[in-house]
Amino acid sequence: MRVRNLFIATKNFGKISEFKRMLLPSGLKILSIGDGEVLDVEETGETFLENARIKAEAAKFFVNDATVVVGDDSGLCVAAMGGRPGIHSARYANGDFASAMDRILFDLQGMDRQNRGACNFCALHAIGPNLSGAFRGEVHGTIAQFRRGNGMGYDPIFIPDGEERTFGEMAGEEKDRISHRGAAVRKLLNHLLRDS
Ligand code: IMP
Repeated sequence: MRVRNLFIATKNFGKISEFKRMLLPSGLKILSIGDGEVLDVEETGETFLENARIKAEAAKFFVNDATVVVGDDSGLCVAAMGGRPGIHSARYANGDFASAMDRILFDLQGMDRQNRGACNFCALHAIGPNLSGAFRGEVHGTIAQFRRGNGMGYDPIFIPDGEERTFGEMAGEEKDRISHRGAAVRKLLNHLLRDS
């Protein structure tokens, strides 16, 4: 069956706009909160993949059978912080990303670039007609010395490898080409197009 509608199971507007930017050109219709209702889901999983699946399964009840539901769980893992905030990235910020980034910068104070390694992970879980699958993306990089630029979440402090700019200083399309979510979305899209 040709998939036309994708429901993104998130209330995070940064994520929604990235999904739209990457998927609308393929002719898919992107639905999200506001177009339907989604329960507030407790993220009880111990991995990004488990939480992505929990979100997708919770949202599945609110859409029709022809719609593919996509759960996204993502976050920033900082090596010098033992991989934190990791799956707790949203809770670590608690809505205040400026303070959360400043806490990370404080923890890494005095460390040189070599010791500022970090990774952004994105796990997607898709459930739809004849489809249930997980798609992952990751991007390695370092934590900047200061917040630079704008962008969603932790974008102003993450410098992807091979770049001097943070994600927050890049145009959206530039970020998509190298980001964790970009990598995961391309795998999802290949899967959807292959099976349609
Ligand atoms: P969750 O996946 O809804 O649990 O939230 C993950 C947290 O990591 C959110 O607070 C996001 O803002 C943050 N996050 C996820 N993806 C990105 C990204 O691409 N850039 C910056 N922060 C991100």
